[in-house]
Amino acid sequence: MEPYRIKAVEPIPFPSRGDREQALTRSGYNLFRVPSAQVTIDLLTDSGTGSMSAAQWAAMMIGDEAYACSTSYERFDAVLRGITGFPEIMPVHQGRAAERVVFSTLLGPGDIVVSNTHFDTTRAHVEATGSQALDLPSPEAADLDSDHPFKGNIDLGALTDLLAGPDGHRVKAVVMTVTNNGGGGQPVSLENLRRVRAVCDEHGLVFLLDASRFAENSWLVLQRERGHGYREPVEVARATFDLADVFWASLKKDGLANIGGVIGVRDDPELARRFRQRVILDEGFSTYGGLAGRDLEALAQGLSEVTDPRYLADRADTARWFADSLHKAGVPVVRPAGCHAVYVRAGEILPHIPAHRFPGHAWSCALYLEGGIRAVEFGSLLLGSGGGSAPHELVRLALPRRVYTRSHLEYVVDTAVAVGRIADELPGYRIVGDSPALRHFTAVLEPAPHAG
Ligand SMILES: *Cc1c(COP(=O)(O)O)cnc(C)c1O
Repeated sequence: MEPYRIKAVEPIPFPSRGDREQALTRSGYNLFRVPSAQVTIDLLTDSGTGSMSAAQWAAMMIGDEAYACSTSYERFDAVLRGITGFPEIMPVHQGRAAERVVFSTLLGPGDIVVSNTHFDTTRAHVEATGSQALDLPSPEAADLDSDHPFKGNIDLGALTDLLAGPDGHRVKAVVMTVTNNGGGGQPVSLENLRRVRAVCDEHGLVFLLDASRFAENSWLVLQRERGHGYREPVEVARATFDLADVFWASLKKDGLANIGGVIGVRDDPELARRFRQRVILDEGFSTYGGLAGRDLEALAQGLSEVTDPRYLADRADTARWFADSLHKAGVPVVRPAGCHAVYVRAGEILPHIPAHRFPGHAWSCALYLEGGIRAVEFGSLLLGSGGGSAPHELVRLALPRRVYTRSHLEYVVDTAVAVGRIADELPGYRIVGDSPALRHFTAVLEPAPHAG
C-alpha cells in the first residue's frame, strides 16, 4: 500500500463528452494543447507533476531568497553531494537547461554522442551543436514481450564495433540514461554501466549520466540484478554515480518537486568552471540556477525522500499492477513494467492505421474522448521528426509521483478497454502545416479517415 496518507486534496475535473470533443478539436487534435481543466486523469508526464510531502511544503517556508550563496543552496548542495559523491553541484531550472550547458560546452560539429537512448530533449541539444546523437539500445529492447530485466541497457557490442570502425574517432561521449525513458522506461544494470565505464576509459570518452530517474533505476537494480552486494537504494545510486564523469538530472522526476535540475562534475575543476560560466549566462547565478530558494528547499527535501525503499516499492508495484491489469483486460503493453510509466502497444490495437498516420496518436485521442484521460504518443509522431517511423507505435501512460490512487488507474484500465471496442472505427491523423524539432509539442493535426 502507499506509505503515506493524503493531507491535502484537489478536485479533479469531469468534463462532459461534448466538452471533450470541443477541447480536442480546438486544440488541433494535440493533447499538449488541451486545457488541464478539461482533463480528468492526466498521465501526460511524470515530469513536475508529483505531489509534495508535508515536509517539503514546510521547507519551502524557510527558503532563503538571497541572490548568492543562500542557505537553501547550501542544503541542496549538501544533499546532492551526499547522494552522488560529486564535489561540483550546480542547480539549473530543469533538465534541458543542463543539457544545453553540458553539450554546448563539450561538443562541436562532427562529433558523435552515443547513448542507450537519447531522450528527445537530449537529442535536440546534441544536434543543436552540429553533432550526431546515436542510439544503441540493447537488442532485447526491440522485443516488447521479452521479460529481460534490463532492456534499458546499451548494446556494448555495437558500441565497440562503432569505436573500432571508421567513425570511431568522432565519438566524444557516451550518455547513459537511467532509467531509459525513450526506451520504454526500462532500467539499466550496474554491470552494463560498469562496462561502459571500462569502454570510456579505454577510448578516452566522457561518461555522461542522465540521472533523471536515478532512484527508480536503483530500485529496479536492487530487485532484478544479482550479486552487486547492495541492500539499500541509496547504495546502488551511489555506485551508479561513482561511474560517471559528469551527470545531470531533470529534478522534476526523482527530485519529487515541480521544477528543477542539476549538473554535477567530478574531478575536472576547469570543466566545472566552464559549465558555471554557461550557467551564469543562461540560468542565473550558479547558486540558484534559475530556481527560487524555496524550490531548492523543496528539492533538497524531495531528494532525501525519494530513495526511501517503501516509497520506491510502492511506485514499482503500482506500475507493475497497472501493466498487469491492462494486459489481463486485453490491452497490449510493453513488458516488464518499469516505474514511471506503462507503455501501450497502440500499433497492435490499430493495425489498420499505418505509421505515417500515427496509430499511437489515434489511440491517445480516443482515450481522451472516451474518458478525459491524457497520455502521450511515443511513436512516429514523437520520434519520427525526420520523416522516418518509430520502431514501435506506443502510447505512454506516465505515472505522476504520489498523485493518483489505484482506483484512478482502474478507471484508466476500463477506459482503455472501451477504446478497444471501437478500435476498428478510429481514424489516423495527419499533420497540418510544418513540423519543427520536437514537433509533437506544437503540431496541429486533423483526422485522416482513409489511409494514404
Ligand atoms: C525529462 C527528461 C529530460 C529533460 O528534462 P526537463 O526537466 O523536462 O527539461 C532529460 N532526460 C530525461 C531522461 C528526462 O526524462
